Amino acid sequence: MRIHVKDISKIYGTKENQVAALQHVSMTISEGDFISIMGPSGSGKSTFLHLVSGLDKPSSGQVFYDKTDIHHGSDKELSTFRRQKIGFIFQQFNLIPVLTARENIVMPVLLDKKEVDEGYLKELSSLLGLEKRMSHLPCELSGGQQQRVAIARALIAKPDVIFADEPTGNLDSKSGSEVMKILCEIREKMNKTVVIITHDSKIAEMAERRFTIMDGELMEVSRP
Ligand code: ADP
Ligand code: MG
Repeated sequence: MRIHVKDISKIYGTKENQVAALQHVSMTISEGDFISIMGPSGSGKSTFLHLVSGLDKPSSGQVFYDKTDIHHGSDKELSTFRRQKIGFIFQQFNLIPVLTARENIVMPVLLDKKEVDEGYLKELSSLLGLEKRMSHLPCELSGGQQQRVAIARALIAKPDVIFADEPTGNLDSKSGSEVMKILCEIREKMNKTVVIITHDSKIAEMAERRFTIMDGELMEVSRP
């Protein structure tokens, strides 16, 4: 699946409180791309990822997945599309505290009224080193383990694209590099498109296509 971002802007607030968080950004993401985006705090990184993944709507411009304009249809169509095609990994993990690791991971499949592919779940839990943690609650897991549960949840519906918003931002450096190793492995073994936002230049350099964002303007630095 090819993603085409066409001249998107995002303005928050009204009148004197307006913030232009993203300004006229265009880019094309090809299948299998491994992309990093770096930028200072407040530069528009999360805004960009939210618009491209359909978590939020642009003020102007369009986002196409192949020929589908994802912001054109109903909210229901968009959430179904997101659940099936897109995996999102947050800095704060965003796990549901009263559900076990397994229940958190399979949630997107249950919301889609589909059956859990137990073989695939087993494969994921082993790839992510979570075999012995599946019946634990998030509060019984370390930060690195919680983020690995969140990665499994992002992958359970077999999406084409994974977006990660500072996935190592809340982790110590050892758990952070484990999470990055896993993301690289997923991309290679499962042939996913991966877009990752980071503060860390070492992480950014792992990607094949590198972008920076400044005051809402995106620039590719790897292919000038
Ligand atoms: P980053 O992820 O790079 O730190 P964000 O995309 O979160 O940056 O924010 C970009 C700009 O938009 C910042 O100035 C931020 O304060 C502003 N912003 C983000 N979300 C909102 C919102 N919901 N309402 C108003 N302003 C926002
Ligand atoms: Mg952010």
